[in-house]
Amino acid sequence: MPIREIRADDFDQECSKCGSIVAVPLTAIAAGISRSGQMNPNVVAMPVCATCGAAEFLLRSPGEEEHPSQGSYGHKHKLLVDKLHAKLVQQGRVAEGLTPEQVPTKEPPAAVMDKWFKDGLKLPPPPFQDESGRSEPK
Ligand SMILES: [Zn+2]
Repeated sequence: MPIREIRADDFDQECSKCGSIVAVPLTAIAAGISRSGQMNPNVVAMPVCATCGAAEFLLRSPGEEEHPSQGSYGHKHKLLVDKLHAKLVQQGRVAEGLTPEQVPTKEPPAAVMDKWFKDGLKLPPPPFQDESGRSEPK
């Protein structure tokens, strides 16, 4: 469920199941999930896809390690997810049952974002044939 573009108040998300692109307002989502006594502060639950009903999640990168393929689609998408996750927490948008203190963020440094996103926080789809670097751990 790739992010295509992050704007000030919303972002474009492509459904990985049916391919429809939906603009999701930041007010529709929150950082972290908390349900049935289990919580995961690193996840962002997406609204259910209006076209196909898929319910998807974005996962913030857990570690501090550098992405093995700098500048690749996978690397840049991870930056966007980390950025979105941090933005939500900064706006106090955390899941019910969580406090902002329980949701550590990993906002990419501005210099890193400037380096890879010169034209704004946009990420075109990866080339169809690109098999390398696409095996992101889920
Ligand atoms: Zn869909």
